[in-house]
Amino acid sequence: TSPPPVSRYDLNQVTVTSQPMRNKEHILILTPMSRFYQGYWDNLMKLNYPHELITLGFILPKDKDGNAATAALQKQIEKTQKRGPEKDRFKSIIILRQDFDPALTSQDESERHKMSNQKARREVMSKARNSLLFTTLGPKTSWVLWLDADIIESPASLIQDLAAFDKDLIVANCWQRYYDEDLKEMSERPYDFNNWQDSENAQELAKKMGPDDILLEGYAEMPTYRSLMAKMYDPTGDINQVMPLDGVGGTALLVKAEVHRDGAMFPPFSFYHLIETEGFAKMAKRLGKQPWGLPNYKVFHYNE
Ligand code: GDP
Ligand code: MN
Repeated sequence: TSPPPVSRYDLNQVTVTSQPMRNKEHILILTPMSRFYQGYWDNLMKLNYPHELITLGFILPKDKDGNAATAALQKQIEKTQKRGPEKDRFKSIIILRQDFDPALTSQDESERHKMSNQKARREVMSKARNSLLFTTLGPKTSWVLWLDADIIESPASLIQDLAAFDKDLIVANCWQRYYDEDLKEMSERPYDFNNWQDSENAQELAKKMGPDDILLEGYAEMPTYRSLMAKMYDPTGDINQVMPLDGVGGTALLVKAEVHRDGAMFPPFSFYHLIETEGFAKMAKRLGKQPWGLPNYKVFHYNE
């Protein structure tokens, strides 16, 4: 018998353009998932980029919550890939189970956001994102869309919209809907504070830190005075307005695959006093790739 044929891929042939649909570019959607939300899946299903060009990748912790989320996820996948209409089916789906402990034993919002929990938590998140990325990025992948498992609302054209800007990495503005007890009506507020422009103050704080210490955003104990994209949303502004960023979050972040191929990942350690997605933005910048943000283009985070 003859040996199996060699597969050859010319990465120059993998186009990455502002019109990915016309060029049939492959998208890899990556989601680290500690809990399954039906709203996430329903929103994902509504994305109108051709599903046959989309590969989905998930990584879930191997604890009780992770098991429950995996079961719920698999149920939806079964339904879509086997019984649903052809046009809804994705090219392929990969589910990974983490080989290290979850970020936290309790995933409640208040517990997650305690400052004392941040370093360990974001270190684990970095490893989860890296494991997911390094096992799923393929030779045909043009774009990677990082989409958190608790993003429950986005425009259906999210992928095309972000790609149209033709940036190495670009992030949407992540907000959250909530019930305003005073006004007795639904309202919305900024959620993801990891999309920011750097400040002198933050740089000064960093200078006084030990080599393993990290800067955190959104904590009164550590006033950074960075400019937060979350707070720059302007309801009367142009939805196509872009701003350069120094730190990014991973809630809805589109990255040209070559940025990752060139070596930018999620540092699970202090990298210029930054970690995880913020460290990734810094690493991209060191590779000469500028991160961008869309202050007036919103996606919404689940509200616990
Ligand atoms: P927050 O919104 O900034 O509080 O962060 P999340 O807790 O929502 O975490 C970001 C993303 O990572 C979400 O999609 C979570 O479901 C997921 N996630 C959180 N913790 C873990 C973990 O320990 N392992 C994995 N694989 N995913 C996680
Ligand atoms: Mn979240």
